[in-house]
Formats: sequence, C-alpha cells, structure tokens
Amino acid sequence: MPTIPASQSGGLRIAVIGGGAAGFFAAINTAEKNPHARITIYEAAHQPLQKVLISGGGRCNLTHACFDALRLSEFYPRGQKELRSLFSRFQPRDTMRWFENHGLPLKVETDNRVFPRSDSSQDVIALFLDLAEKYRIQIRTQTRVEGLEAQADGRFSLTAKGQAEIYDVCILSTGFSPPGWKLAQALGHTVLPPVPSLFPFVVKAPVITGLQGISMPLVNGKLITKSEDGKTHTQQAEGAILITHTGLSGPVIYRLSAWGARELAAARYQAKLQLDLVPHLSEDELRQILQALLYKNDAKKKLENTSFESIPNRLWLALLADAGAKLDERAETTSKKTFNTLIERLKRLQLSVSGKSPSKEEFVSCGGVLLKETDFKTMQSRKVPSLFFGGEIMNIDGLTGGFNFQACWSAGWAISEALKA
Ligand SMILES: Cc1cc2nc3c(=O)[nH]c(=O)nc-3n(C[C@H](O)[C@H](O)[C@H](O)COP(=O)(O)OP(=O)(O)OC[C@H]3O[C@@H](n4cnc5c(N)ncnc54)[C@H](O)[C@@H]3O)c2cc1C
Repeated sequence: MPTIPASQSGGLRIAVIGGGAAGFFAAINTAEKNPHARITIYEAAHQPLQKVLISGGGRCNLTHACFDALRLSEFYPRGQKELRSLFSRFQPRDTMRWFENHGLPLKVETDNRVFPRSDSSQDVIALFLDLAEKYRIQIRTQTRVEGLEAQADGRFSLTAKGQAEIYDVCILSTGFSPPGWKLAQALGHTVLPPVPSLFPFVVKAPVITGLQGISMPLVNGKLITKSEDGKTHTQQAEGAILITHTGLSGPVIYRLSAWGARELAAARYQAKLQLDLVPHLSEDELRQILQALLYKNDAKKKLENTSFESIPNRLWLALLADAGAKLDERAETTSKKTFNTLIERLKRLQLSVSGKSPSKEEFVSCGGVLLKETDFKTMQSRKVPSLFFGGEIMNIDGLTGGFNFQACWSAGWAISEALKA
C-alpha cells in the first residue's frame, strides 16, 4: 500500500490529469472505493474521451476475451512482463464483469474482440459520464495542466490556466502526448521517445507486383534489421498476410512491425523480410509434394495450369516465374535448378522492406514513461510518492483487438485499489 499524505480536511484531493479511458476508469473506481475522495479530472480538449469515441470504428473494442494473464500479456510488444502481474489481478474477465455490472451489456465476436452489445462507443462514454456525475467527480474540460510540482510536504502543486491548486495525489493519464510526458519528465521521470508501431510494410518486389488483394491465412515471417553498431535483430511472427498495392500488410506484418518498432525506426524502415509461405510443411515434405506434382501428377500439364497447396494461384505462378520457370512449358521440364529455387522461394522468400505505410486501423505508437519507474502493483511512481500512471503515457502498447484499452482498465483498477479508503 503506498504512503499517501493525509489531506487537511475531508477526503484525499485527487487530480486526474487527462480525461481519456485510463483517467476515467481510475477516477470512477477510486470514487467507488474511496467515497470521501474529492476527484477532479483535467482534460485539455473540449470533450473528454475523444479516443474512446473513435475507437473500434465507432464501436469501441473494449477488450479481448483472453482470460489467461500469461497469454494475454503476449499481445503487448512493450509492457509484456510488467502487465502480467497486473493482469493476474484485473484482466478481461474482470473488465467484462465491470461493464456488465455497471449496466453496459457486451458481446464477444468470433475473433474474441469484445464490444458493447449496442456497437456504440457513445454508450461507453455515456456510462462513464453518468458514473462521474453520480460520484461527483469534477470534470474540467478545456483545461490543460501546464505544470505539476511535488512539494516538500508530499503534496502537489498543479497549474492550469495560470492558477495553482494543491492535491494530495496525482494520476497522470495524458495518453500518448508530448505535453503529458513533459509533466512526468519535470518530476524526474524518463521518457522513451515515440516511434510508430503496428503498420504495413512498403515492399517493392517483382514477385508481388500487381498481386494486391491476395491474402494467405498462415505464413511465418522473419524480420531482420541491422542497427548502426552492426548488430542484427531478428523478430519472428506467424499469421495471415495480405499483399497491398504498396507492399505487405495483415496480422503477421503488424506483429513484426510492433515487435520490431524500435529497431525498424533506428534502421529508417530498411529491413530484410523472410517469409515461409508453407509453414505447415517441413522442407522434406515440401520437396516430396512438389516432386510428385511437377514430375508425376501434373507432369504433362503446362506450368501455367498447375496449382499448389494453399498458395493463391496468381502468387503461385509469380513464384514459378520468379524461380526461372517457363509457364508455357510442361511441368516435367522444370529443371533441377528451378525446382530448388522454387523450394527456396516457398520456404524462404527474401524481400526487402523499404518503408512503412500508414495504418488504416488503430494508430498505435510505442514510447513513453520508462516502465521500470512505475510499481505495477499499484501503478505508483517509484520516483515520486503519490504520483500514479495510467494508460498510454507509459511505454506500453498492445496489438489491435482491444488490448490497448485493457491495459488502461487494468492500470486504472490497480490505482483505485491503491487509493482504497
Ligand atoms: C483510431 C483509433 C482507434 C482505436 N481503437 C481501439 C480499440 O477499438 N480498442 C483498443 O483497445 N484500443 C483502441 N485504440 C487505442 C486506444 O484508443 C488507446 O490505447 C487509449 O485511448 C489510451 O487511453 P489513455 O487514457 O491512455 O489516453 P487518451 O485516450 O489519449 O487520453 C488522454 C487524454 O489526456 C488529455 N491530455 C493530454 N495532456 C493533457 C494535459 N496536460 N492536461 C489535461 N489533459 C491532457 C488528452 O486531451 C486526452 O483526452 C484506438 C486508437 C485510435 C487512434
């Protein structure tokens, strides 16, 4: 339990800086557990919860129905280790129960994403605003916090609109925003500079040119980046892939871009990408199947009339051509060299990443307050007593699918537990 200075009179005075998902969840839960606390949410924008409004295409993908803390933590390129313990205390099952118990019915879609049954992010906002009113949480919109100082008595002097106010506790939940980081830095915290995460790759290669729209349900991708000191970094991921008009997208690419976000940024988005297009087959199995196809079953067919396993036909023909095969010749005429090159292309297709494309889904970046400076049992700063962190202000990011909000809910809940009366 953190040491919180007792306030002069009445309950704790708590300032929540940033009226987004993390700030509201922390404020509401704290108000429920600490009825005497006097909570004020400071929000720089005209309206709070603007990211909740646009989230999930206006439907708000609240969380992900993954109920195992360890497995859940694996969806976070940054924060994986720290969130594990937090999720063992407040995880998607608790989130779902919380929203349903507070009157927002939910639904789980086939891919385990969880949404309000109404498919409306407005309902999430309405719920939060109702609860804030019920618990007399003050919301000050259009009020940017400009300064935050820790005083000798353990309290905080907060400056907004040129006026200073004193608080016992401050919750920093300013999201992914440089002005918010400045407040944390002024209190002695370290901020990792932001870089994008979760984006498609620009890949220019004859073998995929003109094939936009083609997808495959399962490929294995290996991303190899080189840092300035010559060190090689490798990330590996499996999943579906989509060929776009600028290169490659889909879950496997998003995963690689997320886990390799920092290395990719340092390498100016120049990297090698190796794809195993048939990860379900060992190289020996592939050889046998291909041998039977080209020299036995389809031997008399022209190569342009053959097809192979799960590889979409146009991609298969492009791979054959790329391996040096003549498509208008019979399959049985495929040379040993072409056969071996084809195996190489199918198991280790080598591509060059030459940039990043903008993401059409969630916009997620990594960077923020260094995780080791926060105690994840309470979300309290390890540097400044009575200062708490929630949400994207920290160097935490998850894949798409409700994971980013879950990190906000879990942190908000942990803060409220720490501030329980
Ligand atoms: C288009 C889009 C769709 C998304 N969809 C999903 C989804 O469906 N599911 C999911 O899990 N995640 C989604 N995300 C990610 C998710 O929205 C974020 O992870 C989440 O909103 C972060 O919440 P937060 O409270 O940490 O920060 P924010 O929501 O950014 O809130 C921070 C608030 O602090 C305010 N602020 C900043 N500085 C100050 C200051 N100095 N004083 C006062 N106020 C300040 C800001 O105005 C802001 O309102 C989406 C993101 C985007 C951009």
